[in-house]
Amino acid sequence: AHKEAMARRKESAAMGTRLKSAEIELALLRGELSAARARRELVLHRLRGELVTRCPVCASPYDSFSGCAAVKCTLCGEYFCPFCETPCGEGDETDQPTSGYSICHAHLQHCTRNPKPGHYFLSTQEVDAFYACRQREVIQRVITEVGAGSEPGGGADEDLITFGATLVSSLQGQDMSLLLGELGTDSGSGVDPHPGSASGKG
Ligand SMILES: [Zn+2]
Ligand SMILES: [Zn+2]
Ligand SMILES: [Zn+2]
Repeated sequence: AHKEAMARRKESAAMGTRLKSAEIELALLRGELSAARARRELVLHRLRGELVTRCPVCASPYDSFSGCAAVKCTLCGEYFCPFCETPCGEGDETDQPTSGYSICHAHLQHCTRNPKPGHYFLSTQEVDAFYACRQREVIQRVITEVGAGSEPGGGADEDLITFGATLVSSLQGQDMSLLLGELGTDSGSGVDPHPGSASGKG
């Protein structure tokens, strides 16, 4: 029942995104928005959802992690990889190879998205660099997708590419949350990086 509630929550978030996208398309059709403006609105709308990092199982938002990258969701108890968002299961037993704890650590050793391959522990700067990189990737992907959606077979036009570049450079100034307004308003739970496993390999 717990898992069903989470699936519903995930589904309703996806539905909200589709509704808002439809609203923007409708405004475009009615001539209330120019095509360029509508594309920008769509980009901002999607970024509000996609820039937020979430537990891959229950979609609960979290900000970041510190220390060990075997991250445990405080809401559903799932261990997951923050780099590739692979869910690794539940269970804290350090001596059980099938526990979420063990599977997640084993995964981190070989995760191709781990910026520090073979290690579990990242410094604050390394974690920040990873999330800055993730944000740039999300922005670029959304720009490409919105561009392709508005012009089948085409890509983002010059206006959209410029807009994407503006968003990426605003990341450096840390004013992304101001720009995006609602970003982060639904946070309220978080992750619990388990403390105290040995640093580096092992
Ligand atoms: Zn979760
Ligand atoms: Zn660990
Ligand atoms: Zn991974």
